[in-house]
Amino acid sequence: MKVGMIGLGAMGLGMATNLAKAGMLKAVYNRTISKANALAVEFDVKVCGSPQQLAEHVDMVMICVAADEDVLQMINAIAETIKPNTIVVDMSTVSSETAKKAAAILLDKQVQFLDAPVSGGVEGARKGALVMMVGGDEETLESARPALEAMSSRIVYMGGTGSGQGTKAVNQIMAAGINQAVTEALAFGQTQGLAMDKVIDVISGGAAGNWFLQHRGRTMTQGTYEPGFKLALHHKDLKICQKMAEQADISIPLVDKTVADYQQLMEQGYADEDISALYRLKSL
Ligand code: NAP
Repeated sequence: MKVGMIGLGAMGLGMATNLAKAGMLKAVYNRTISKANALAVEFDVKVCGSPQQLAEHVDMVMICVAADEDVLQMINAIAETIKPNTIVVDMSTVSSETAKKAAAILLDKQVQFLDAPVSGGVEGARKGALVMMVGGDEETLESARPALEAMSSRIVYMGGTGSGQGTKAVNQIMAAGINQAVTEALAFGQTQGLAMDKVIDVISGGAAGNWFLQHRGRTMTQGTYEPGFKLALHHKDLKICQKMAEQADISIPLVDKTVADYQQLMEQGYADEDISALYRLKSL
C-alpha cells in the first residue's frame, strides 16, 4: 500500500513517522514545506509541492490538518487529481457535517472516504498508540486497516460516515470537563501548601486518576504549557459540540463555560499553549 500524508503538525508528524517506519509512507505534503523536508532527511519519502501532486502518487491519502475549512480545502485539492479506488482517511477533528461533505465530493471520483479522528495526544501519535474512531464503509476500513494499525493501538468502527467525528465530539466534551476538574483541583491543592508531585502521584493511582492528570499535572503546576493539544484547537472542537448540542436541543453548560474560559485565554495571547493553560485562570 502506497500511503501519502497531508499535514505534519504536532499529530501528523508522529503519524507519518510511524507510517514511514512501517515502510508504507511514500509521499508527504505540508503547507510549510520545511517540515516535510525535515522528514525526508530521515526517511525515503517524496516531498510534494501540492496536495494535488501527492494524490497522483499514492493509493491511500491520510489527512491531519486543523479545522473544517482546512480539511475541505485539502479534499477539493486532491479531488482534482485523485485516481478512482484510492482511499482517503481524515484524522483531523472536525464536524460530522464536514465528513459527509468530504465523502460526497470524493464519491463523485469513485474514491472512498473514512472519518477517523483520534485520541491519545501527541504522545500517542509519537508512540503509534492512538485510539481511532472510524466512520464510513466497513469494508473500506478493512482495506485501510494495515496502514491505520501503524499509528494506532485501537481502531473501532463506529458506523456510517460522520459517526467517527460524532464519537470524537463526545470525547472532546469529556476532555473539557476533565480539564476543568484537574486544573481547578490542582490549583486548590497548591493553596493548601501540599507537595504537589506527591498529590499528583497518589491521586493518579486512585479512582480520580486520569490521562490528563498523569501527562499534564506536573507541567501545569510548574507553570509550563507546551502543546500537546493547542487551546485554540480544543476551542474549535467545542464550538462544533455547541452547534451539535443546539441541533439536538440539549444544553452543555460545562462546554459553554470552557469555551468562554478559552476565549479569555486566547484574547490574552495563549491560543497556541496547551489546553492545560486553563490552570492560569484557576490559580489567579
Ligand atoms: P497543529 O500542530 O496546529 O498542526 C496543524 C497541521 O495542519 C499543520 O501541518 C498545518 O500546516 C496544517 N494545516 C492547517 N491548516 C491548513 C490548511 N489550510 N492547508 C494545509 N495545511 C493546513 O495541530 P495538531 O495538534 O497536529 O492537530 C491536528 C488535528 O488533530 C486537529 O484537527 C486537532 O483537533 C486534532 N487532534 C489533535 C490532538 C492533539 O493532542 N494535538 C489530539 C487529537 C486530535 P503548517 O505546518 O503549515 O501550519
